[in-house]
Amino acid sequence: MIEKSIPAAGYCRLVLEAPYIAGRARPGQFALFYLPGEHRYHLPRPFSFFKTDPDRGRFSVFFQIKGLGTDLLAKAEPGEKWKLLGPLGSGFPPLNTGALLVAGGIGIAPLAFLAASSAVPRTLVYGARTAVDLSCPAKELDLPGLTVVETTDDGSRGRKGTATEQMAAFLPACSAVFACGPRPMLAAVAASCREASVEVWLSLEEQMACGIGACVCCAVETSFGFKRVCHDGPVFSAGEVFFR
Ligand SMILES: Cc1cc2nc3c(=O)[nH]c(=O)nc-3n(C[C@H](O)[C@H](O)[C@H](O)COP(=O)(O)OP(=O)(O)OC[C@H]3O[C@@H](n4cnc5c(N)ncnc54)[C@H](O)[C@@H]3O)c2cc1C
Repeated sequence: MIEKSIPAAGYCRLVLEAPYIAGRARPGQFALFYLPGEHRYHLPRPFSFFKTDPDRGRFSVFFQIKGLGTDLLAKAEPGEKWKLLGPLGSGFPPLNTGALLVAGGIGIAPLAFLAASSAVPRTLVYGARTAVDLSCPAKELDLPGLTVVETTDDGSRGRKGTATEQMAAFLPACSAVFACGPRPMLAAVAASCREASVEVWLSLEEQMACGIGACVCCAVETSFGFKRVCHDGPVFSAGEVFFR
């Protein structure tokens, strides 16, 4: 790890030097971070790619500090070495003109990378509970062709309401939807898109162990049977995912 910052209370961004990963990572893919020392037998923690700099062999992740693993990562100092595996999983399909990106909270991490992957006209609805949770630095979303609509549940920044409520206005004119966020939000996005007959891609989160599809501990039920979030996903077409 070569750089650490805390853009908002409870959120951390790390820049890592890993030329193999940085040169291959695509939006929607992720890396597994293995905990060091006495915690090395714990499950590795998955994080989406937030940004890459292939020329310098660097990539960054952006995460919410929640428990043991993210706390250890947030306390790590530049120069420390972490065991990583990546890039893993499927990425998002490429953006077309009129794409609508919907991020809930820290779901912004893969969508910021996706938004930066293209210069076509596109809209990002970025929602969170409060202003603090709109934690992504504004400069990361200041991209040519990108319209950003911020929403907060309590109205402390941007429009008041949920990202799902705000996305409704953009659905009729959009070419496809790309979403990442809490599961109830993804279920609501999938339902709205089904109603509007709009194609939608969702990035799912599950705990995982191997990261390469061998242990099947991250399986989710789909209309094509069980699929592994680490290997077949984490990006799925909403039409195939069951939300129960
Ligand atoms: C594909 C993917 C991409 C993701 N991308 C991001 C991202 O970009 N940003 C972000 O903020 N989050 C992301 N997440 C979620 C992130 O991985 C979790 O928030 C993170 O793993 C939490 O780790 P923690 O150790 O802080 O939390 P904890 O709650 O301590 O641990 C996480 C899980 O590991 C299990 N666990 C805890 N301790 C042990 C133990 N001793 N042994 C075995 N298992 C244990 C727990 O059951 C827990 O559910 C992503 C998840 C997935 C699947």
